[in-house]
Amino acid sequence: MKKLALHWKIIIGLLLGIVWAVLSGFFGWSEFTMNWLAPWGRIFISLLKLIAIPLVLFSIIGGIVGLGDPKHLGKLGARTLMMYLLTTVVAVSIGLLVVNIAKPGIWMAKEVRIENRIAYELWAHKEGYAIHDDTNLIADAANTELVKEVAKRRGFDEDEAVQKRLKLAADQKGSGPLSFVEDMVPDNVFGAMSDNGSMLKIIFFALFFGIAVLFVPQKHSEPVIDVVHGLTEVFLKMVDLIMKAAPFFVFALMAGLVSEIAGDNPAKVFELFKGLSWYALTVLTGLLFMAFIVYPTIMKFFVKRLSFGSFLKGISPAQMLAFSTSSSAATLPVTLECVEDNLKVDPKISSFVLPIGATVNMDGTSMYQAIAVVFLAQWHMIDLDFAQQLTIVLTATLASIGSAAIPSAGLVMLMIVLSSVGLNPAWIGIILPVDRILDMVRTVVNVTGDATVSTVIGEMDKK
Ligand code: ASP
Repeated sequence: MKKLALHWKIIIGLLLGIVWAVLSGFFGWSEFTMNWLAPWGRIFISLLKLIAIPLVLFSIIGGIVGLGDPKHLGKLGARTLMMYLLTTVVAVSIGLLVVNIAKPGIWMAKEVRIENRIAYELWAHKEGYAIHDDTNLIADAANTELVKEVAKRRGFDEDEAVQKRLKLAADQKGSGPLSFVEDMVPDNVFGAMSDNGSMLKIIFFALFFGIAVLFVPQKHSEPVIDVVHGLTEVFLKMVDLIMKAAPFFVFALMAGLVSEIAGDNPAKVFELFKGLSWYALTVLTGLLFMAFIVYPTIMKFFVKRLSFGSFLKGISPAQMLAFSTSSSAATLPVTLECVEDNLKVDPKISSFVLPIGATVNMDGTSMYQAIAVVFLAQWHMIDLDFAQQLTIVLTATLASIGSAAIPSAGLVMLMIVLSSVGLNPAWIGIILPVDRILDMVRTVVNVTGDATVSTVIGEMDKK
């Protein structure tokens, strides 16, 4: 019998995980699932993350020294950044288009939206923000009682989960959306390497180091290059070994994840989804459009040798991992393998383009941020004008660059986008219940975008 391809095994693991979680909900096994299965999912993510930092470091250095010529590097770097920026702006723009057409935020009882609007106006007054558009419900005498009631009921004490994230965002907000440029330069390279959140710092160091190697006499650079290539191979082998067990790990990951949301009541998953279903559907529509219309079109134009079907088949293991781990960084080792082995992109190119992409290029995240902001505005009866939507394009692009490639990072950065157009960052609490599911899908788009761009750049470079 022909052996089942890895991506099929992973899909089976993924589905079995979900089935297991639902069953364990029915039979009251969720404690067993949380104690005995979920840890394996976390171990899997740790194993992948363990490899991510050294792999980024050595593959970027290896990519640069492989190019050999600083001029070539400059051209490649400029192309890469341009492509990444372009795809991100396209994603945000499509997101805005979709959310403005679908208007998922208006499908709610009028009274609730009025209360939301009042709560928003109260918040804006308290924080000293200018109020959007001409509606001024709290100034209307007819609303006096309602305003009092809303003020009392909502009291602005957001729940704990939101508070925790608010604190996280506050640190980032203080330094503005460009802070990532400043943060990019490490003052201690070992410090940076000991922190999974410092990927940009590591990329900076790797670029710097790799470029310096190019200028060192061959006698000294050769042994360094050999070591770098050798180490890269070893780390890739480690990924190979881990991936052999991926179907089981993915099973455990999904079982734990779904159990965590559902507990002993599987109906809860659907319950959570119901209230926010229009919003979630809008985000999913945008993301699927990106994955199945935009990327294939780009591929069609630039890469003639690959059909989109074979492209998808080639990167499907990476997509599956992105879906189950919600982390582009954890997926990176596998993305590299897929792009090099299945899509036949020159490792010199992919090892330079992909690690950077996993960190800075997040088309799915930026699109989701744009949709979420407009949805939350609609939910509170706020019309965002053209200039404000343009601000969203800019901040969502920057925020997605600044988002770490880990679960929920996009949600934290969303607060910055909200603040940039004068909206309450605590509103992320509203979409929190469905965020994990959307995170999984946007990470798939993030990874697919990186793979697309690296394949295109590889093709351009051949010419
Ligand atoms: N989880 C996403 C990623 O790793 C980032 C996000 O939260 O949007 O690509």
